[in-house]
Amino acid sequence: MCYARPDNPSVRAAEETLRDLEGGADCALFSSGMAALNAALEGARRACVETTPTRVFVAAPTCAYFAVRFRIVEWCASRNVEVVSYDPDVPFNAHGLDPSTEEVREEREAKRRRSGYAGKSLRTALREQRELGRRAMMVWIESPANPGWDHVDIQRAVDAARDCDAFCVCVDATVATPIIMNPLAMGADLVMHSATKYLNGHGDVVAGALVTRVEDETWRCVTHERKLGGATLGAFDAYLLSRGMRTLELRVKRQSATALWLANALKDFIDKVREDSGVEAGVVLYPGLVPGFVKQCKEHDVEDECTSDGSTKRTYHGGMMSLCFYDFLGLKTDEKKVRVERLVAFCRTFATSCKIWTCATSLGGFESLIEHRYSVEEPGSMDPFVPFGLLRLSVGLENRRELLEDLKQAFWHALDDMRGRDTVNADSLPKSQEQ
Ligand code: PLP
Repeated sequence: MCYARPDNPSVRAAEETLRDLEGGADCALFSSGMAALNAALEGARRACVETTPTRVFVAAPTCAYFAVRFRIVEWCASRNVEVVSYDPDVPFNAHGLDPSTEEVREEREAKRRRSGYAGKSLRTALREQRELGRRAMMVWIESPANPGWDHVDIQRAVDAARDCDAFCVCVDATVATPIIMNPLAMGADLVMHSATKYLNGHGDVVAGALVTRVEDETWRCVTHERKLGGATLGAFDAYLLSRGMRTLELRVKRQSATALWLANALKDFIDKVREDSGVEAGVVLYPGLVPGFVKQCKEHDVEDECTSDGSTKRTYHGGMMSLCFYDFLGLKTDEKKVRVERLVAFCRTFATSCKIWTCATSLGGFESLIEHRYSVEEPGSMDPFVPFGLLRLSVGLENRRELLEDLKQAFWHALDDMRGRDTVNADSLPKSQEQ
């Protein structure tokens, strides 16, 4: 060892654990997930331009964690690199959103498409650029993507990237974790994590990670970027991260099982509200309900677990889901602004009325968190679109029945709060049969 910035034994120990979990050749930890993104972009650019005489671009999904999309756009603009957008394979709106959310989404999408903002698959986007003589220095994938849980078939994306001679494919697997999938085994070049989330799992560290499939020139440039850019992780945070990863498998399995149960129970709850009141309240978005995502998940032996169905293999689909409410709050006005304000108010009251779920920004920890994403993302929005009624849920380790009951009481509480508002037609709101 010579100096702790490029080489620290606590950091190295955590890197080796994650390298092995992802089945990679090496791992580098960073001071945050965003620092890992920056190093991946910079490392790929440096390595790519050395061997590429043509113009290069970054292929980015239309839906990804909003700060990541922001950063990719900003980074590319400052380096005169184009961003080419593509749509994920299964966008969340495939689940069907309500007409008013659809209306706004359509307006924005139409505007974006006029300015070339996706509306095309990754393969099509890459082919079009290839025909123009351009090369993708980076294909960025986030699957499942925060907060609608869109997914990309990584194997197919890698095939499309190779066919078009893309330089580097990087998968942000923060939400999936190495327990659910290993993108490197599907051919990706790099895996990125916001280690702040599941890998640490205790909500007390901010950290990022990159894992590489091979130790090539890109990797040399990535580690060079970290060494001289200085976005390294502190030794104590690395120690905490190592502690967190010891329980990663147990946490992800438990949280996935609770999330699947909750997703189905919440669907039943929404169905019951519709049966009782004729009101279509919303939709549950969960990757485990989408066959294309489930198909990509690693199979685990269940020998050590109690199963009633006698199966020996099982897949897990993560602890993240969203409850996307429609504009169902009774119409005294048709004015779009009022309808949006009302739905936003309902969601905020819902989130803050929970007693077990904490209303806070982050995900992947031991405790369950809930958050109204529009309130967080849209104020500074550049181009992502998050539905007005979307509540993001990060499922923790608590009792699943208590988690469900808490959400139900928050729903009825938020509705009662709406009843008193003068823009709301109280008679048209669903009434609890349980109270
Ligand atoms: N990628 C995803 C999917 C995220 O959810 C986040 C943060 O929420 C990041 C990247 C950024 O990570 P960090 O906050 O550790 O910089």
